[in-house]
Amino acid sequence: MSTLFSRPDYDALILGAGASGLYCAMTAAERGRRALLIDHAAKPGCKLSITGGGKCNLSNRSVTPGDYVGENPDFCRSALSRFTPEHIAELARTAGITLEEREHGQLFCARSARDLVRFLVSRCAAQGCLMALDEKILAVEPVANAGAEDSPRFCLRTSKGRYTARNVVVATGSPAWPQVGASGIGYELARSFGHRIVPIRPALCGLVMPQDWGLSGLSGISLPADIRVEGRAGRSPAPGKKDKGAPRLPVAESLALLFTHRGISGPAALQASLHWRKGDALLINFLPGLRTEDLLNAPGAGKTLCRNLLRGHVPERLCAALIPDALGRKKTAELSRAERTLLAELLHCHRLVPSGTEGFSRAEIAAGGVCTREISSRSMESLRAPGLFFCGEVLDVSGRLGGYNLHWAFASGKAAGEAL
Ligand SMILES: Cc1cc2nc3c(=O)[nH]c(=O)nc-3n(C[C@H](O)[C@H](O)[C@H](O)COP(=O)(O)OP(=O)(O)OC[C@H]3O[C@@H](n4cnc5c(N)ncnc54)[C@H](O)[C@@H]3O)c2cc1C
Repeated sequence: MSTLFSRPDYDALILGAGASGLYCAMTAAERGRRALLIDHAAKPGCKLSITGGGKCNLSNRSVTPGDYVGENPDFCRSALSRFTPEHIAELARTAGITLEEREHGQLFCARSARDLVRFLVSRCAAQGCLMALDEKILAVEPVANAGAEDSPRFCLRTSKGRYTARNVVVATGSPAWPQVGASGIGYELARSFGHRIVPIRPALCGLVMPQDWGLSGLSGISLPADIRVEGRAGRSPAPGKKDKGAPRLPVAESLALLFTHRGISGPAALQASLHWRKGDALLINFLPGLRTEDLLNAPGAGKTLCRNLLRGHVPERLCAALIPDALGRKKTAELSRAERTLLAELLHCHRLVPSGTEGFSRAEIAAGGVCTREISSRSMESLRAPGLFFCGEVLDVSGRLGGYNLHWAFASGKAAGEAL
C-alpha cells in the first residue's frame, strides 16, 4: 500500500481505451472531470475498429436484460434502462454516422467502425481528457490515509511510471481476440481488491467436434438451424446452486449454421457457444419452422422418395450423412410409424457433443468475469473498494450476438462516467 498526501494527479484514471473506456472517458470529461485514459496499444479502440467485420454492430433495435447471460441476470437492468438504442441513434446523429439496420434489428455503422472510434477519441480530446498510449497497466494499489476528500485513493503502476487518482475505472475488457491487445489484466486487478471472478471461457466462437464426428466432411455447407443446449438453463448457476436443466427455448433460432473443417461455426454455433459448457450436448433442428410430418403428408408426397422430398429443404450432402440410405430410398407412403418418428428425430433433434471451443484466439468475447454481486448496478462502483469502478466486458455480463456486447460496453461506460 502506498502512502501519498499530495493532491491526486487525476480525478479518474480510466484503464483501457476500448469501447467502454472511451465512452466512460467521454462522459467523465464532459462532466468536467480530469481524466487520463491509458492503453498499451499504439492506437485507441483497436478491437472496436474490427468489430462487425469493420462496420461495428454497435447496438440492436431492441435491447433487454434477457439478451445477456451472467450469474446475476438483473445486474444490467439499471444501466440498460438509462442507455437505450435511442441513445445510440442520438450518438450516431451527433457523430454524423449513418446507421444501417440489418436482419434481427442489428445496427451497424453504414461506412466504417473507424468513424465511431474517431468520433469518441476526438470528443474525449475536445473535452480535455488526456490519453496515454503504448503504456502497459501493471498494478493498482490502494493509498493509505486516503480519507480526505481531495486526497488520492489509488496509485497506478504502468510500464512508464506511476499516477495517482481519486478514482480508477477498469475497462480493460477480456482476453478474447488477443491479436488486438486483449488481456486478462482486469481480472488480476479485481482479484487484488478481493473481488471474485466468475470463471471465464471463450464465447461467441465456433465449436470443435471430436475427430470421429459423424458429420465431418461437410465443410462449407451452411443452412438455417435451431440449436438447444442440453444440460444447462442458459445461465450460469449461482454459487452453490444447481443448474436448472435444459433450456426450453432454443439458444439459436433459425440462424445460419456453417460446417467447418473442425466442427461448426456461423451465427447459430456462435450463439450456442455462449451457453455451452464442456460436456454439454447440442440438439440441432435442421428444419426450423417446419415439421417432417407436414412434409410427408403434403398432397402428392406419397410417391416421392424420402431423400428427394427432403432435398428441397436440407442440403443433399447433409441429408445423405444424416439419413440412412435404406430410409432415404423409401417412398414416403411406405414409411412405417417408427420410420417416420426416426426421420423426425434425425432432422429435428440431431445430438452433437462438441469436444471444445475454438478458444480465446477466435472468440468474440469471454463469458464470465468480475462477479457483479460485488458491484453497484447503478454506478459500476466496487462495493469492496470505493472509487474503484468496472465497466464493459471485464464484468460478468455477456451479450448474445447482435450488437449487445458493444451496447453493454457503452451503457456501462456511461454509467461509470456519470458516477465519477
Ligand atoms: C472480432 C470481433 C468482432 C466483434 N464484433 C462485435 C460486434 O459487431 N458487436 C458487438 O456488440 N460486439 C462485438 N464484439 C465484442 C466487443 O468488441 C467487445 O465486447 C467490446 O469491445 C468490449 O469492450 P471493452 O471496452 O470492455 O473492451 P475492449 O474494447 O477490448 O477494450 C479494452 C482495452 O484495454 C486495453 N488493455 C488490455 N490490457 C491492457 C493492459 N495490460 N494495459 C493497457 N491496456 C490494456 C486493450 O488494448 C483495449 O483497448 C466483437 C469482438 C471481436 C473480437
